[in-house]
Amino acid sequence: MDIKTYLARFNWDEVKERIYAVNTEDVKVVLCKKKLSVDDFLVLLSPAAACFLEEMALMSQHITQNRFGKNIQLFMPLYLSNECQNICTYCGFSLDNKIKRKTLSHGEIVIEALTLKKMGIDHVLLVTGEANSTVHIDYFLKAIALLKSYFNTISIEVQPLEEEEYKLLYEAGVYSVLVYQETYHREVYKKYHLKGKKTNFDYRLATSDRIGRARIHKIGVGVLLGLEDWRVDSFYNALHIDYLQKMYWQSKYAVSFPRLRPAEGEFVPNFILSDSNLLQLICAYRIWNPELDISISTRESELFRNHVVSLGATTMSAASKTNPGGYAVDLQSLEQFEISDERSVEDFVAMITAKGYECVVKDWDTIYKGVKQ
Ligand code: SF4
Repeated sequence: MDIKTYLARFNWDEVKERIYAVNTEDVKVVLCKKKLSVDDFLVLLSPAAACFLEEMALMSQHITQNRFGKNIQLFMPLYLSNECQNICTYCGFSLDNKIKRKTLSHGEIVIEALTLKKMGIDHVLLVTGEANSTVHIDYFLKAIALLKSYFNTISIEVQPLEEEEYKLLYEAGVYSVLVYQETYHREVYKKYHLKGKKTNFDYRLATSDRIGRARIHKIGVGVLLGLEDWRVDSFYNALHIDYLQKMYWQSKYAVSFPRLRPAEGEFVPNFILSDSNLLQLICAYRIWNPELDISISTRESELFRNHVVSLGATTMSAASKTNPGGYAVDLQSLEQFEISDERSVEDFVAMITAKGYECVVKDWDTIYKGVKQ
C-alpha cells in the first residue's frame, strides 16, 4: 500500500465531524490509556480536549522527560538560496515576488558555516527554495561536502527529490530530511500552489516514501498551520506518520509546527491557531507518540518557547536567519518569513539551563546509527 491509498480510506468531512463530535467522556477514556492509536490522537485534538489542557501538558512533560530526559537539541537553519520556481501564495520566495534572488556560492557557504561554528552550533538544517536548475542534487552534495568538516549533524529541507537522489544524500552523510505537505486537503492545496512542480500534490505526498526507501535516519513531516482546519490537517499528518512508522520502521520521525500568523506579510491565514491550540496540538502528538521528535522554531514567541521547553519539545532552533547569507554574507537579502524569538544563542541556552534542562549541541544518534561522518 502507498500513502495515497492509505489516506484515501479517510474522508475529510467525516474526519472533521468526528473531531467536533468528541465529548469530555471520550477524552477522559483516552487520557487513561497506556498506549494510544491514531483514533485516540483525534480525540486529543478535539475542542472537547481543550478543557484538559493542563492535564495533557503534565502528561506530555512526564512522557517527554521519560523518553528524552531534560534535553533540548539545538539546531540552526542555514538558508542556501531563495530562488524558487513555484508560486505558493503564502511565501516570500514565491516565483511571482519581484525580489533579488540569491544562491550562496561555495565560498559564501563556508563564510556562513564559520559564523555558525563560532556561535557553538553543531547541527545545521540546510534550506532552499525549489529551483531545480540552480539548487539541485549536485549543488546539495557539494554544499554537504563543504559543511561536513564544520558540523556533526546535517539536515536538509529542500524540494522533493527522487529516491536515487535521497540515496546520494544518505551516502553523503545527511541525517534527516524534512518535507511538509502544507495541507492534506487536495482542493485547498490547489488554491495555494499555483505554479511549478509543487502543484503536483501526489508527487509531494509520495516524497516521504522515497526518503524512507533511501533509509534516511530521520524523516520530518508537518502541515503549514493556517491553510486549513488545523485539527483535521493534523489528524492526516498523524496518519501519515503512522503509515511511515509501519513502512520504514528503521527511521525516526519528527514533526514541526510552522504556524502562519496574520502579521506576516500580506497573506492572511484562513484558520488562526492560538497559543493554547498549538500547545494542545504539541501535547496531543507527545501523548499519542512518545518517540516523536517535536521541533519548535523561532517563528514562535519567546514566551511560548520558554513554556514549551518543558512541555514536549525535543528540538529547537535559536537566533535563526531565514534569508540566504543572513548570518554574515548578505544580511539584507529577503527573509522567507519573519522570526518571532530573536534571542541570541547564548540567551536561549541560558533560558534552557535556568529551567534545569541541557541544551544538546551534538546529536549522538548520528554516531550510534552510523551516519557517515
Ligand atoms: S513555500 Fe517553498 S516552494 Fe513555495 S514559494 Fe516558498 S520556497 Fe518556493
